[in-house]
Amino acid sequence: MSPNTKIIPIKVITPPNIGFFAQLAQQIENFFFQYRSWLSVIHVIMFFVFLALLFLPLFLSEPPEDGATPLSHFTLFVNYAMWGLWFPLVFISVIFTGRSWCGILCPMGAASEWVNKIGLQRQIPAWIRWEGTPIISFLIITILGQTVGVRDHPEAIAEVFGGTLLIAIIIGFIYGRNKRAWCRHMCPIGLLLGIFSRIGAIQFMPKRKKIGGEGYTEKGICPTMIDVVYKEESRHCIECFRCVNPKSEGALFLRIRKPGEEIEQIREHHPNIAEAWFLFLGTGIALGGFLWLVLPFYQDLRQIIGEKFIIDYGWYWLAESGSPWLMSVHPERHEVFTWLDFWLIVSFMVTCMLILTAILSSLTLLAAWLSGKVGGDSNLRNRFVELSYQYAPVAMVSLIIGLATALFLPLEYIGADKDTISYIKAGLFIIGLIWSVHLGNKILANQKISLKLRWLPLLPGILGSLVVALAWWPAIF
Ligand code: SF4
Ligand code: SF4
Repeated sequence: MSPNTKIIPIKVITPPNIGFFAQLAQQIENFFFQYRSWLSVIHVIMFFVFLALLFLPLFLSEPPEDGATPLSHFTLFVNYAMWGLWFPLVFISVIFTGRSWCGILCPMGAASEWVNKIGLQRQIPAWIRWEGTPIISFLIITILGQTVGVRDHPEAIAEVFGGTLLIAIIIGFIYGRNKRAWCRHMCPIGLLLGIFSRIGAIQFMPKRKKIGGEGYTEKGICPTMIDVVYKEESRHCIECFRCVNPKSEGALFLRIRKPGEEIEQIREHHPNIAEAWFLFLGTGIALGGFLWLVLPFYQDLRQIIGEKFIIDYGWYWLAESGSPWLMSVHPERHEVFTWLDFWLIVSFMVTCMLILTAILSSLTLLAAWLSGKVGGDSNLRNRFVELSYQYAPVAMVSLIIGLATALFLPLEYIGADKDTISYIKAGLFIIGLIWSVHLGNKILANQKISLKLRWLPLLPGILGSLVVALAWWPAIF
């Protein structure tokens, strides 16, 4: 060994084998190790199901306005399947099974990887690897989804999901070598699932972990470029099981952990400022996408601005509708957006995003500063990043309740009245809120703040979680 050779310390981690969850983890690991090759069959089936859901409704007649249900008309079934089942269940499943949707079922990521094998296999450029890329991708798709009416119109579902599938395939064809550059860097929901997987119960850990921090490599086995021997965060792990081998001492193993554990100890799991901003921005934009639909204030604003600019200033183009690729133009369903609607929706959502981001980032900064005042270790920036993760549970519950209203439809079908459903939603909100406060408390404990003084830096976090929960209040009642 040359005197200049750097010795990287290794921590040997023995997979636990005592207890129900340890044994369950071993069984899951053995199962997927044995049948991993079948995942490609599942991906192919999912790919064709996905195509059918996206494009078949375009060839069907309009569902009748009276009496049609998801069981009687395929178009309504697709809408329910996307927004009542897929959307909320993918997010809820992250808590119990991590990003299992990504590795086991998602046809988009799989398609991106298939074409990668026959594609140009160029090196992934810096603009794709930039941490802000998935944030921008999420913001664009969320806003476009609102302006084209992705929750209501099959054409919009085909455009938004079909368009992202096409881009995923193009990116896969050009960049990476046996990799999923799309999934790691560009998928609009990849970062969202990644952050929420940090509160999930599933973790893949190296049995011989090299010390030195989470690494990135385009050369290893991992399709999302995790340097697996350094792996310490769940965010990018799509659970493809390729690095798992129960018989190998150098492989990774699956561990079932307490939900929220990774965020409680976030400083050991590569906290990241881009994720902090994404939590604030993403929560804000999703809130804007919900509020413009339900607040009477938005309609009043539309009236005032319309009168001012169209009638007073003569900007008649604002009253015209634009391209159906950009906005909802469906006269047959009595919905035609104009440029006024388009710009108002975009501005309203962006304003909500900026306001919520300003509130949450200020409160988090205050919490980080107070933490320092009462003995918190590390510097202000690190404390800020760590404390921003406390909002993950309340943000996730808000997203599910606010944007997946169809999830609660079956309760109506079995006879639950509106009050009962509101109480269930309120109960979920309260669980999210309490969980967020609990995480804030644990993060502060790990910043070495004594129990006696912790309430002070905890207060801004409680206020921030309350702000998120209250902003979604119209979603409950
Ligand atoms: S990151 Fe996106 S495209 Fe990739 S597997 Fe997950 S959901 Fe699918
Ligand atoms: S860490 Fe392992 S299981 Fe996770 S994505 Fe990479 S190769 Fe797949």
